[in-house]
Formats: sequence, structure tokens, C-alpha cells
Amino acid sequence: PLPTVAIIGRPNVGKSTLFNRLVGKKLALVDDQPGVTRDRREGDASLIGLDFRVIDTAGYEDLDAATLPGRMRQQTEAAVAMADVALFLFDSRAGIVPLDEEIARWLRGSATPVILIANKAEGKAGEAGILDSLSLGFGDPVQISAEHGEGMGDLFEALLPHI
Ligand code: GDP
Ligand code: MG
Repeated sequence: PLPTVAIIGRPNVGKSTLFNRLVGKKLALVDDQPGVTRDRREGDASLIGLDFRVIDTAGYEDLDAATLPGRMRQQTEAAVAMADVALFLFDSRAGIVPLDEEIARWLRGSATPVILIANKAEGKAGEAGILDSLSLGFGDPVQISAEHGEGMGDLFEALLPHI
């Protein structure tokens, strides 16, 4: 079986944009099961010749602020538990917000290795957010732009030891 990579992070950081870039036209399935798996998308990804299974923890659009964190925690922990490595995305333009810090706390006890990813890092708008992210405790983030396809070589190098 292919190694598995989970894409996690709060809503709107660019998880699905990265998923779509990695999976391209090879999207395998849209999961339709109830509960935690309902919003999970999986696909076969290829990055510079590296093949893996990728999981997008998607879709919190129907949730209000009160139910979001609990549901997100369930989904995040389920995806991370089944993955060989997790990509923890934040929005470098928005900077680090309390929900990012909360996710970082959930991940701290996890056995799955975590790679911190600064998305939306095209141009210089993300520099302050990238400095802030050091406080999350996952080291220097890999800087990418999922939308523009930048940083994919660095992402490849960060993934390689884990899959
Ligand atoms: P998700 O909720 O984490 O799955 O986030 P989405 O993939 O749906 O993206 C949320 C928004 O961020 C969309 O408007 C995307 O077009 C935008 N976005 C995603 N990646 C980038 C990026 O690299 N740069 C910029 N500037 N915007 C991005
Ligand atoms: Mg999404």
C-alpha cells in the first residue's frame, strides 16, 4: 500500500487547494460515509515522482463556532492516526490564530510526525506569520503557495524522510 499523508489545519488555510494540486486529475473517491469520515477526501498523489495517498480533512462549512472545534478535533485526530506523516497547514498571511494553537496542542502528543507548512507564502505578505509560527513548537515551517505551486521542491524534501 502507498504511504499516507494527512493534510490538516483550521478552515480556509488552503488544505483543499494543496490536495487538489497534489492529486490533480487522479482524484480517486469522495467519501460519502456518515460521521467523521463524511468530510474526508482521499486521493492518490504524485509529487516529483514521489507517490503517496493523501487525505484532505474537509468541509466544516455547515458548522457554527460552537460545534466546530470538537468536530474538527475528531476529524484531525482520525486522519493523523491513519497517516504516516501529517502536513499541518497555517495561513501565513493571516498569521497564527488561537485555533492554530489549539490544533498544535492536539498534535503534540501524537506519534505521527508533523511537518508545519506555511501556505499562502507567495510574495512577502507572509513573513510576520512565518516568524509567529515558530511558537507552535514544530520548528521552521516549509513555505509553500498551494495556489501558485511554489515550494513543492521543499515540500518533497520534507516528506521524503517520512514516506
Ligand atoms: P481549506 O478550507 O483549508 O480547505 O482551504 P481552501 O483550499 O478551500 O482555500 C481557502 C482559500 O484560500 C481559497 O480562497 C483559496 O483560493 C485560498 N488559497 C489557497 N492556497 C492559497 C495560496 O497559496 N495563496 C493564496 N494567496 N491563497 C490561497
Ligand atoms: Mg477544504
